Amino acid sequence: MGYASWVQEHAKAHKEIVEKLLKKGQTKEQIIDYFDFENMKTAEPNFCPLYKENRKCHDMESLNCYLCSCPNFRYSDKGVQEVDGKTQYSFCSIDSKDGRQGVYGESIHQDCSSCQVPHHRSYVEKHFGPDWAKIMKVCEVEQ
Ligand code: SF4
Repeated sequence: MGYASWVQEHAKAHKEIVEKLLKKGQTKEQIIDYFDFENMKTAEPNFCPLYKENRKCHDMESLNCYLCSCPNFRYSDKGVQEVDGKTQYSFCSIDSKDGRQGVYGESIHQDCSSCQVPHHRSYVEKHFGPDWAKIMKVCEVEQ
């Protein structure tokens, strides 16, 4: 699955949950609480494949899933640019010190496995909006 199709699928699942919570009259704070890993793994077991394994994508005590993947992620399924004869498909727009560019054969992808930026509650509060797709719209690089 390419980046764009994953984003489309994830946006649908995210929207269903947020709409359900908004219908119940939940506030921003309550919605962010709901997206805490500990709640999501039981309340929304199909939202992330890691929930069934009770496994977090990052080793942090309190992990919030609202802004998965990350508003700083940039991608293009057609390739962002050529780098030393390889195709770069994604990068980090803030060049986080905890991210890195991973080289996989002829492809280069952003590796966020050591970066916790979008999973901190304070970050989610700052960048919160009810429409996840709108927040992530900046991530797709136009080619
Ligand atoms: S490296 Fe961190 S800040 Fe950058 S895109 Fe990945 S998760 Fe986001």
